[in-house]
Amino acid sequence: MEPNLGKIEKLVRQILVELGEDPRREGLVKTPERVAKALAFLTHGYRTKLGAVINKALFTQTTSSMVIVKDIELYSLCEHHMLPFFGRCHIGYIPDGKVFGVSKLARLVDMFARRLQLQERLTEDISQVVMREVGAKGVGVMIEARHLCMMMRGVEKQNSTMVTSSVLGVFRDHLATREEFLTLIKKT
Ligand SMILES: [Zn+2]
Repeated sequence: MEPNLGKIEKLVRQILVELGEDPRREGLVKTPERVAKALAFLTHGYRTKLGAVINKALFTQTTSSMVIVKDIELYSLCEHHMLPFFGRCHIGYIPDGKVFGVSKLARLVDMFARRLQLQERLTEDISQVVMREVGAKGVGVMIEARHLCMMMRGVEKQNSTMVTSSVLGVFRDHLATREEFLTLIKKT
């Protein structure tokens, strides 16, 4: 369901008043409208269909060497503060006959990142869907991200990066496979 932008605008205007602002002043007149549109965009992952993202972009692959896609840009909103967290996502998997088109992995990351998230759950969501949709023998996902809720408020730790990983299948069972993944994503 599409969000009701008019309703969000009204609520944002109310928030501005509560914060002691005058929503009628020049710089703020269009702010509620902009915020409503931005929020709708930043949460479009709720309304994205997995089928539309993957869209049959699976290709036959006979080898079973590891596929790695590194440094996929990631922008999300933490569900505790609705403040951004952003960073990079690395995905590795061992195909079992099929591989994803590369751009599809990036769109998959977006689909899960564009909603209110926890970094841990985002990492899990991505690994599970790659495992299931590609029918891989194993999947590893690592996300390195910085959280504005930590950097701008609270503990104000400006330089800390949160790292989360999720490993499934052979990535979980075989230490060597997991290590190969970690080595490959660290190479620049
Ligand atoms: Zn937060």
